[in-house]
Amino acid sequence: MQRVEKMFYNGKVYTVDSNESVQTAFCIFDGRFMAVGSDEEMMALCDEATEKVDLKGQVVVPGLIDTHLHVVHTGTIKMQLDLHGMDKKEILTLVKEKAQNLEPGKWIQGWGWINDKWDDPGFPTKEELDQVAPDVPVFLNRGCGHMSWVNSKAIELVGITEETPNPPGGEIIKNEDGSIRGVVTDQAQDLFMKKVPVYDDEDQKKINLLAQDEFLKFGLTSVHDMGASPHDLEIREGLYKDGRMKVRTYNTLRVPGRPWYDEMYEKSMEYLEGGIRIGMYDNRMTVRGYKISGDGSLGARSAWMVDDYNDRPGHKGDGKWTDEQWDAVCYEAHKRGFQICYHGIGDAANRQALNSFEKVLKMIPNPDHRHRIEHAQILQPDDIARFKELGVIPTFQTIFLHTDKNVAEARIGDRVKYAYAWRTMIDQGNVIPNGTDCPVESCNPYMSMYCAVTRMDEFGEPEGGWYPEEAMTRMEALKSYTIWAAYGGFEENLKGSIEAGKLADFVIID
Ligand SMILES: [Zn+2]
Repeated sequence: MQRVEKMFYNGKVYTVDSNESVQTAFCIFDGRFMAVGSDEEMMALCDEATEKVDLKGQVVVPGLIDTHLHVVHTGTIKMQLDLHGMDKKEILTLVKEKAQNLEPGKWIQGWGWINDKWDDPGFPTKEELDQVAPDVPVFLNRGCGHMSWVNSKAIELVGITEETPNPPGGEIIKNEDGSIRGVVTDQAQDLFMKKVPVYDDEDQKKINLLAQDEFLKFGLTSVHDMGASPHDLEIREGLYKDGRMKVRTYNTLRVPGRPWYDEMYEKSMEYLEGGIRIGMYDNRMTVRGYKISGDGSLGARSAWMVDDYNDRPGHKGDGKWTDEQWDAVCYEAHKRGFQICYHGIGDAANRQALNSFEKVLKMIPNPDHRHRIEHAQILQPDDIARFKELGVIPTFQTIFLHTDKNVAEARIGDRVKYAYAWRTMIDQGNVIPNGTDCPVESCNPYMSMYCAVTRMDEFGEPEGGWYPEEAMTRMEALKSYTIWAAYGGFEENLKGSIEAGKLADFVIID
């Protein structure tokens, strides 16, 4: 037997093993758990050279895993204005300050505004930004990432006028008189993204490391990156080689921006040709997923619904791809052994994904495909059981509840009965990997677990919880961040619990 390198004792260790056992001590050798048990049992395995750490009764959980976030965006907003939790006035003050000492040629960029939380919850206007920044372009992403608030200077640089048609899959929102309001959605954001200056490789390394700081701060030892380009991964790989990147990443490939179909298909094939790569750099980096977006967001009313929005009759949101287009890409990714992660918020998008998964699984059966629908937020009642039948994993972000509960009912009325259906999914036998979609929300896993268990926001609203019958238990919420999350990346034999033989990833909670 190997000698014990390090032993932790006198703790309250939630192992998340199959018995959900709680122990007090564990031993480590060479980055793996060697044994888990009582203080006495573990002491007996040590010699005088073993380093012993007194946990002083603190709680220990397996290293937490966020299965849906965006590494580059998380780091990038650390380089931009962080607008999370700010009201409109605070944002305008910040933009004004920034505008006064901006280098020529630069844009003011920011991320994280949520109009639903403002006193005046209507969409903001370009005129409001023009008052504080008349001469420099401003581009501020809404927290959901599917909408941006822009000023007149930015609109002028991009060359948009009142006559410019909406690009497919996006909207240049107009006022009642036909004038440009100053907010754009999805594909219309890309017109701006093409003009915004890009970050060089050194900046991009910094961006990865800034994101890592944020993850480790919260006890996230693994994250699933929902959409990276081969270039993003090359940058990241360099950091693993240098030993500067420690956090484990499970990576999914995605064609950046919001490309047209031909471009998306062509690039996807190029990316998929690279094949899957598992467990690189001492199990720190895996590339195994293929990410694709099927629709937008509920907040921006760009989620793709079977029936009209309650608060905008005649509008169902938009699917990004026709069934034929998406079937073709789905088939190619499935054939090459990639795990497909389809972003589906609206019930129409979810149905499209399920239909396609069903088709490709008939053509090429794979009992352990683990294809995922990211968000799986609003579902047609008939589609809920299909997740179990097809073995499709719904990847929820329970933290979304604290903002979405404010808008969901207005948007979709009593269809919310089939939304955020965590309990129903668990009871029918689905595993639920959790996450935050950071930077859409903070990557704070404790806030997300709190929403999972209480179905309330951070202010305890609504009392008793929003549709509380769909809440998770505390143990399920922990599983959604550990063993279920590991399953979501084919890694349940490697991580997700404190058990002998697994990677020694754990968090001591203060
Ligand atoms: Zn996302």
